[in-house]
Amino acid sequence: MVVEFLDRILPGMDGEIAKQFQRILEKQGFAFKLGSKVTGVEMNSKALLAKIEPASGGAAETIEADVVLVCIGRVPYTDGLGLKEAGVALDARGRVQIDSHFATSLKGVYAIGDVVAGPMLAHKAEDEGVAVAEIIAGQAGHVNYDVIPGVVYTTPEVSSVGKTEEELKQAGVAYTVGKFPFTANGRSKVNQTTDGFVKILADAKTDRVLGVHIIGREAGEMIHEACVLMEFGGSAEDLARTCHAHPTRSEAVKEAVDALSPAMTLLVFAVPVVPLFPLKLVGLWLLAHEYWTGAFFTIVFGKLVGVGVTAFVFDVTRAKLLEMRWFERIYALVLRVRAKAAELVDPIKRRIRELIAGNGEGWSYRTLRMIQRFRKSVHQAR
Ligand SMILES: Cc1cc2nc3c(=O)[nH]c(=O)nc-3n(C[C@H](O)[C@H](O)[C@H](O)COP(=O)(O)OP(=O)(O)OC[C@H]3O[C@@H](n4cnc5c(N)ncnc54)[C@H](O)[C@@H]3O)c2cc1C
Repeated sequence: MVVEFLDRILPGMDGEIAKQFQRILEKQGFAFKLGSKVTGVEMNSKALLAKIEPASGGAAETIEADVVLVCIGRVPYTDGLGLKEAGVALDARGRVQIDSHFATSLKGVYAIGDVVAGPMLAHKAEDEGVAVAEIIAGQAGHVNYDVIPGVVYTTPEVSSVGKTEEELKQAGVAYTVGKFPFTANGRSKVNQTTDGFVKILADAKTDRVLGVHIIGREAGEMIHEACVLMEFGGSAEDLARTCHAHPTRSEAVKEAVDALSPAMTLLVFAVPVVPLFPLKLVGLWLLAHEYWTGAFFTIVFGKLVGVGVTAFVFDVTRAKLLEMRWFERIYALVLRVRAKAAELVDPIKRRIRELIAGNGEGWSYRTLRMIQRFRKSVHQAR
């Protein structure tokens, strides 16, 4: 159970990525209590008891846990260093104030890392350390704060560099979005790690890449080609025209630029299914003229191809189609209906399993046991 004060997870990261990350984690069994605050943790002889309240106040509840992991952020640790007394100025949040050359208000004293503004990350501190050493040595040290990658080291990983969609909207920047799901990436399909997608934000006028966000296996490794591109002020087209080895997960970064708009994707989704209508008509014609065998095989063939093609195309296009609000609503409704149907069917399935597991003899039991073994072997093979 994750308890979060805000109404979303991964604050500061791209909202769409955060939403998808939450969905994936929920599929893994995580539960989220958003807009809630922990007001205290007590311990009894068996477990830890965390008291939770709605963030805006209200009735409290207690959650029982074996382990409580507190990760509510960090603050710069500047207390007790005598900075004020020495004449080193701090800002309102207790961070050491520096100029663009890392110099504090006290001549000869420089500051870098977690005690100064910017993301509290090891690689940011390291780059600042290099820059300040160069500056002190009389060279031109510099850190590009627009290109500091951030990674969430989970399974799957989340990585991000540059601006989020929310930041661009707030700044009034006109931008384009390119996305590519790992469900359509060959390497990911083979490795059965198809969760997630790549999202690229580029300036609508200049095509310069402004932000790249990845959710998926090895996202933390994949982000660096975007960092290099952005460090050199590269465009989305530069990325699309850079040859990527096949089959690699990084291809998804290139494909995200090439990706179609949601409306075009809908067309791609519909086109393969359209030729199946004439097939169905042929089947019905054969049926009407009493060509039973021909009708049977045509209709069954049409059904199988239809289901197969729809499943494949939907698998590939789902992430893009879900960008459309109306599609997402219908999809959510279908999932809810499916969950309800599963609730009704599950007891029957359980009963069948119990019957098969019993000592029933006769051909029907033997056939069911054979089907069960076959299904198991197919699942294992997949
Ligand atoms: C649990 C945890 C996990 C993290 N994971 C990641 C991660 O996966 N990736 C990432 O990029 N970042 C991560 N970070 C953040 C990262 O560790 C920091 O951003 C980074 O270490 C900051 O470097 P720094 O040099 O500013 O500070 P620090 O690394 O904290 O170094 C400051 C040093 O100063 C010393 N010191 C303090 N007071 C005094 C004093 N009075 N006199 C002398 N020495 C003093 C301290 O002992 C310390 O060694 C993590 C942080 C935590 C707490």
